[in-house]
Amino acid sequence: MDTQDRKNKSLDPDLLFEDLIRKIQENTHSMDLGRIRAAYEMARMAHSGQFRRDGSPYVTHCIAAADISVDIGLDEDSIIAALLHDVIEDTSLTHEDIARQFGSAVADIVEGVTKLTRVQYTSKEDEQAENLRKMLLAMAKDIRVILIKIADRLHNMRTMAYQSPEKQKSKSLETMEIYAPIAHRLGMQRAKWELEDLSLQYLDPDGYKEITDNLTRRMPELERFMDSMQEKIQTRLQAEGVQSTIYCRIKHVYSIYRKMYAQKLDINGIFDLCAFRVIVDSIPDCYNVLGIIHDMFKPVPGRFKDYISTPKPNMYQSVHTTVIGSEGIPFEVQIRTWEMHYTAEYGVAAHWKYKMGPSANTALRAGDEDTFAWIRRLLESQQESDASDFFYNMKVDMFADEVFVFSPKGDVINLPAGATPIDFAYFIHSDIGNHMVGAKVNGRIVTYDYVLQNGDIVEIRTSKSAPGPSRDWLNTAKSNSARTKIKQWFKKERREENIIRGRAMLEDELRHNGLTIDDVSDEAICAPMLKRFSFTCMDDMFAAIGYGGLTATRAANRLRDELKNQEPKRKTALDKVAEAAERRESRPTKKEGKAVHGILVEGLSNCLVKFSRCCTPVPGDDIMGFITRGQGVSIHRRDCSNCQQLLNQPENEGRWVQVSWAGKISESYLTTIQISAKDRNGMVMDVATVLNSVNAKVHSLSARTTGLNFGVVSVTLEVKDAAELKYITNRLSSVPGVISVSRNGA
Ligand code: MN
Repeated sequence: MDTQDRKNKSLDPDLLFEDLIRKIQENTHSMDLGRIRAAYEMARMAHSGQFRRDGSPYVTHCIAAADISVDIGLDEDSIIAALLHDVIEDTSLTHEDIARQFGSAVADIVEGVTKLTRVQYTSKEDEQAENLRKMLLAMAKDIRVILIKIADRLHNMRTMAYQSPEKQKSKSLETMEIYAPIAHRLGMQRAKWELEDLSLQYLDPDGYKEITDNLTRRMPELERFMDSMQEKIQTRLQAEGVQSTIYCRIKHVYSIYRKMYAQKLDINGIFDLCAFRVIVDSIPDCYNVLGIIHDMFKPVPGRFKDYISTPKPNMYQSVHTTVIGSEGIPFEVQIRTWEMHYTAEYGVAAHWKYKMGPSANTALRAGDEDTFAWIRRLLESQQESDASDFFYNMKVDMFADEVFVFSPKGDVINLPAGATPIDFAYFIHSDIGNHMVGAKVNGRIVTYDYVLQNGDIVEIRTSKSAPGPSRDWLNTAKSNSARTKIKQWFKKERREENIIRGRAMLEDELRHNGLTIDDVSDEAICAPMLKRFSFTCMDDMFAAIGYGGLTATRAANRLRDELKNQEPKRKTALDKVAEAAERRESRPTKKEGKAVHGILVEGLSNCLVKFSRCCTPVPGDDIMGFITRGQGVSIHRRDCSNCQQLLNQPENEGRWVQVSWAGKISESYLTTIQISAKDRNGMVMDVATVLNSVNAKVHSLSARTTGLNFGVVSVTLEVKDAAELKYITNRLSSVPGVISVSRNGA
């Protein structure tokens, strides 16, 4: 670096800074220049003695970053933060030093930029790039942090020529994959284009040169063309009385490059290299201009896009059309209002530009909202966008609900907010979690309850002789997947305990069926069952029951069914089954889904259900369940007198469960009714006749006298539901001499 260059104005910090001040003054009068000067002084002192690779004092980079921040329209605090953006990282100044002089807002921004700077990218795989972009956005709690980081990157890319070829390539790749998409996402078209073109220059120097050489060669011709078209459009719009400003440009190199590759075209095959921009005052004018353009030139079919009625996810609005110029050359015309124009150029940053800009009358309607809400809305609108869109999706609540950390290899791991090293370990692999003996974050040992922060590098220490997870980990872990894996470990590792528990549970269940473990332990009975569930032995089955993988009821039912299948050979065992069934109820077991006998018991599936003898409920009755000791749930009518009595006993508290009739019931139910009648000859016969006439399925009928001239006929019959029962009782009531027909238990 020769001394001539060092004296060059472009390298003299003080002169550069005065240029910056002038630029700020041209833009706005509302900034405190004294504060900005003080920030410059602080940066200059802090970075004194440091130089850039091009030989310029380091602080020139800080001024450049601030200068770009002014260009993209950032506010005073951002410009101060941009001037100071490297002091925490590269000098002895701290957050406190900055906060003391410029307030905590500025200090927080600088610290935010520092954190992003410290993020090291090692993995460049596709899905990793997306996670990295998310991570950066998540880390930059204040969007100004990201905007300054983009300004910083832009200047570094502009001066990349002085870096080593390796650094040029790696920084360019990072810019292309991380920062340009972020700029795009934030709607900062201008920054995005420049980042892309600068990166391309290093990533594919030949491709870049081919395009720029070609453009340079054709420039006179292209300029002639653009001038004549611009004039034509201008004249016509003036004649039509439309106020407009027309800009014209050659498309940026990377967009041409991408098109060449996407369409496998030679540069000479790309015609629409020029783009015109017509900026007008109102939306009706946009469509008006569109009509005029289409009247002047032949539109290319399929190239009209209306982003005014349907804005792009990053809030970009314009109407686009491609038309054929007079010389047969196609060109694109973008038509938009000034407001749309600023949003397109500066995206998110337009927010500040409008807030501080001299032309406050054109301010975005979002002007009064706080910054964060505005960003949030931007992200929300992107969230709702078409998934096939170029933009990657991001959760609306990503700032609150997610944390992004690095593995030691540089992979970005996405975990729920509040996640701990335990979550991280189990995310990597269950084995890592189960053998964890310690964790390090950013090289320092942390406790298991350390809450991971965005950008943390997490390292898990494991040992083959690790004792395994502790029960406490279930509370420390924040992710469901980690908790599930910890529970799985307990299921697996506590096998002995589970076998004992499971065996007891099955024994209990079998007892309700009148069976014992010995009855079903026979090879012929249990083998099909074990095979069905891929158990190698009975202990496997007990263990599964013990940890809840298989319910005892299900196992017992299967074993019982298997016993039945073996009927001829196992008379005695079958008898037991039959007896047990008889004792419980006289109908065969029938199940519909989880319903047993057409009954759904809240919170319990496949539990033993029996109908109380006292009130014999039928479908349609209002019912409730009482958990008996060892006999399952007994079903009572809610109006059952027995039931009312049970309800009032305090020791039965907690033994009542909600039960209901399942939707579809194909069974019939036994119930008993009492017919009080005058004791006369033929009364029982008359009752029987009526029962016969309504096709009642009577199981038993008995009559007794209850005193002088009175008798009671008790009938046990099978009905489908309460409606059928009601019909039958109504018919019985009309028998001469019958006083009342009532159900048992009432
Ligand atoms: Mn920097």
